[in-house]
Amino acid sequence: MIVLKTARELSLMREACKISARALKIAGEAVQPGVSTLEIDTLVRKYIEKQGAVPSFLGYGGFPNSACISVNDTVIHGIPSKKRILKEGDIVSVDVGAYIGGYHGDNAWTFPCGKISDEAQALLDATRESLFKGIEKAQPGNRIGDIGSAVQQYVEERSYSVVRDFVGHGVGAKLHEEPSVPNFGTPGRGPRLLPGMTIAIEPMINMGSYRVKVLEDEWTTVTVDGSLSAHFEHTIAITPDGPKILTLPD
Ligand code: MG
Repeated sequence: MIVLKTARELSLMREACKISARALKIAGEAVQPGVSTLEIDTLVRKYIEKQGAVPSFLGYGGFPNSACISVNDTVIHGIPSKKRILKEGDIVSVDVGAYIGGYHGDNAWTFPCGKISDEAQALLDATRESLFKGIEKAQPGNRIGDIGSAVQQYVEERSYSVVRDFVGHGVGAKLHEEPSVPNFGTPGRGPRLLPGMTIAIEPMINMGSYRVKVLEDEWTTVTVDGSLSAHFEHTIAITPDGPKILTLPD
């Protein structure tokens, strides 16, 4: 069932999303050579808790931390660790959510650590841009497939590939709600977008093959070919006036 939110519910969700966005901004500012991914996770958790909110991911399905931090060929669900020290040239995906007032926010961004290669920067640029191509299609009356096909077309034109095994999702009182929001698809297919729907659009884009595998820790998801991967996500609301990004810091 797809839950439609009232204006009041959307304003509560906006609060959760604002905290999520500010936590992500703090994480991004902390991405520097020599910093461990656990230090970044701790900053995120402390910030969220100081706002009176709860980190959405902490304990979710048994996830041990507040942020997923995924470096280089790790696509998503990287577990923060004091042993994982960031170095110059890494690309660092941080995914973080906050829960307050009965609602979740969810967002992600891939940050460069110091100076990165031109190839890595191009992947980040294309993945970020593909997110906004998807958001543009999140118009009332359109369908879920319009979003995914816009993302897919944009990145495949640039010879990147779209991860198939993980997708975006509805978000609200639960972190993961219906509908699924794939980053691939066919225009005009899938559930129709209606005002009051809130969805997380989150392209996960690989430089090589789209194939991924989950490591023995049952979380860390990496590209099978070892190629770099990027991940950008916003929580948005479908409104009568079009898509509205909820995960903005201000
Ligand atoms: Mg998400």
